[in-house]
Amino acid sequence: MLDLTTPIEKLPKVGPKNLPRLKRLGIKTIKDLLWHFPSRYEDFTQIVGVGEVKETGRVVSVVGEVMKIKTTNIWHRRLSITEAHIKDADEQLRVVWFNQPYIENSLAEGSLVSLSGKVALDKRGIYLSSPSYEKIHNSNYQPQTELVHTGRLVPVYPETEGISSKYLRFLIKPLLATVDGIYDYLPEGIRKKYDFPDLVQAIKTIHFPESVVEAEVARKRVAFDELLLFQIKSLLGRRGLSKLKAPSVIFKPELVKDFVESLPFALTNDQRICAFEIMKDFGRSYPMNRLLNGDVGSGKTIVAVIAAYQAADSGFQAVFLAPTEILAHQHYATIKSLLVNLQYKVDSKSATPPTLDPRLFAREFSSRGVADLPNLTIGLLTGNETKQWPTDEVTEEKIPKKLMQKKIAYGRIDIIVGTHAVIQKNVKFKNLGLIVIDEQHRFGIEQRMKLVKNQELTPHLLSMTATPIPRTLALTVYGDLDVSLIKEKPKDRKKIITKVFTKDKSSEVYGFVEKEILSGRQSFVICPRIELGNPQEVIKTSGKQNKMNVLWAEVKAVTAEYEKLSKSIFPNFKIAMLHGKMKPKEKEKIMEDFKNRKYHILVSTSVVEVGVDIPNASVMLIENAERFGLSQLHQFRGRVGRAEHQSYCFLVNGGNNRFENKRLKALESCDDGFKLAEQDLLLRGPGEFVGTKQSGLPDLAMASLTDLELIKKARLEAKLLLKDDPNLKKSPLLKTQVANFQKIRHFE
Ligand code: ADP
Ligand code: MG
Repeated sequence: MLDLTTPIEKLPKVGPKNLPRLKRLGIKTIKDLLWHFPSRYEDFTQIVGVGEVKETGRVVSVVGEVMKIKTTNIWHRRLSITEAHIKDADEQLRVVWFNQPYIENSLAEGSLVSLSGKVALDKRGIYLSSPSYEKIHNSNYQPQTELVHTGRLVPVYPETEGISSKYLRFLIKPLLATVDGIYDYLPEGIRKKYDFPDLVQAIKTIHFPESVVEAEVARKRVAFDELLLFQIKSLLGRRGLSKLKAPSVIFKPELVKDFVESLPFALTNDQRICAFEIMKDFGRSYPMNRLLNGDVGSGKTIVAVIAAYQAADSGFQAVFLAPTEILAHQHYATIKSLLVNLQYKVDSKSATPPTLDPRLFAREFSSRGVADLPNLTIGLLTGNETKQWPTDEVTEEKIPKKLMQKKIAYGRIDIIVGTHAVIQKNVKFKNLGLIVIDEQHRFGIEQRMKLVKNQELTPHLLSMTATPIPRTLALTVYGDLDVSLIKEKPKDRKKIITKVFTKDKSSEVYGFVEKEILSGRQSFVICPRIELGNPQEVIKTSGKQNKMNVLWAEVKAVTAEYEKLSKSIFPNFKIAMLHGKMKPKEKEKIMEDFKNRKYHILVSTSVVEVGVDIPNASVMLIENAERFGLSQLHQFRGRVGRAEHQSYCFLVNGGNNRFENKRLKALESCDDGFKLAEQDLLLRGPGEFVGTKQSGLPDLAMASLTDLELIKKARLEAKLLLKDDPNLKKSPLLKTQVANFQKIRHFE
């Protein structure tokens, strides 16, 4: 007996050739096969008598007997034409297939056949052109309910080379009748409340619906299941978290006020609110698990620093994790200058300007005699460099790694800024109270867990991301996190002037870039590819893909663009390139050099670092902008305009497609990352924000991430379920499903 866990190689119709192909589609078991849902349906429901086939262009289905069938080869055109005549009670119809000579063998004269396809006309009259076909076995010429490929709504699946929808239908259809062990785990009450079909029925209907409406209902049911499981998992994660004990960081409003007043700018309202939300989390007995979400340049760092400052004051260490050395350096420098400001403010009566000389600073800092300010020491720890600030009597700012590790272990460093190097066995904290993760998507869950483990108390966790996340996504994918939003930008920001160009306007754009560089600025040029498309690759593939590849081959590439710009367009400027095939060290070096103005132009793929401040860059030129989502373009744009210079973002539409032009134009008027993200979600789907793998969301749930109503329902039901039955004792099937559902991000 087949059940859901049976591997597909047990099916007689899956041979050694197709097995790896199916696996490529992610299909390994019967369950995977049944959960491989159609991406759309072919509407072959217009069933007519042979005599009624008249109107050309219409898609119809007919049933009849094959009268004669014959294949002719037209050698010089490399074409084979299979022509058949079929007949029902009283009429005949001509049917033509091109280049499918094997059909002649499978449809012998006298067999009964069901056909679905388009009606066409040539000089010999009306015919059915290359229809889908299947043999049938009863003779009353009535289409049967058991039709699979014709005469009904026919499922069209995500395919791969060698695995056609027809083959998948051939595999799936018989399984639906025979497979055992699909138990409906959704509690009956919920099913009734929303009038959902039961699971077996839903699965059958998704594959072979009677109507599109019916298919929609069935899909909703399965998507709801997935969203519900996800929500339950999130709630359980939160509950697990609330049982852990966190370091008790004490919120001292006066201290924070002093610190905020020492800043060279006033906080925005959103920054204040976010900082306050963090302080409230600190007040609880269990660890914070919060995501700080704000556009590039919205000022997330300072909010995190306030949190770290507060944690340090309570005697706990805080760690800032950055994905790259250059970002770690940047954070270290920021925090250092903030401390200097703070110290200056405290000493403002003395009117000495703040100093950046480490030794002087150290002396001033320790001699200032202000009792109620914590004596903070910050450290930088990356693969290449370890630094400490302020320095003490015997050390320079740079100190040996071993010494740093010791100091961290003894609790002598309060705020540690670092890269992955911090997450290593030989780095032990004395009392870690807060973990701040910048660009959180760049760190794996395991890496975060490593920091959390080995600690008596579970540190508070603040993740930061500059990717604006639409609300529906935040509710699901980040369901286990509390989210703080910075929507408002600091007031002094100049709007980045954004303009969409067609590709024939490049000389105009280059002229502008030149002007900016001559006035002392720098420019980014972004291309979608690393190397140009290979024409060979285009020829090898077939069909639709072929067309895609031809287009893809025309897309601009970093290497070619670098050549072109440095040789013919801007021979007098220094130009560098950056892409994902380079080693991390090389990449960092180039970023660093660009930051230090050693190049005028940086030609890069999308790898160009998100958080890096290049204040002198004023132009962001994006080639083939039509290839990117609005959110991503907005991210690129955020890399300029970080200083007082008026900055520009030029989007070159390489496709000359009017729809694309309109989509891109949204960026000209809108600089709200969240609004753009919502548009992206509608236009390009959720893949833009979360890779399926990263989110752990199954396909249907992914597809329903725009359905706020369904998401809300799932959230509500998950809450009610757990409130009523905290350990899901009453729903054992559901409990098993939850246990098997993908792990998601929290302190498990
Ligand atoms: P992001 O959210 O992208 O990490 P940062 O924290 O790096 O942004 O801040 C970007 C810049 O804005 C920094 O130079 C920072 O000092 C400055 N900044 C932050 N908050 C404000 C504010 N309220 N007013 C003015 N400038 C600010
Ligand atoms: Mg940042």
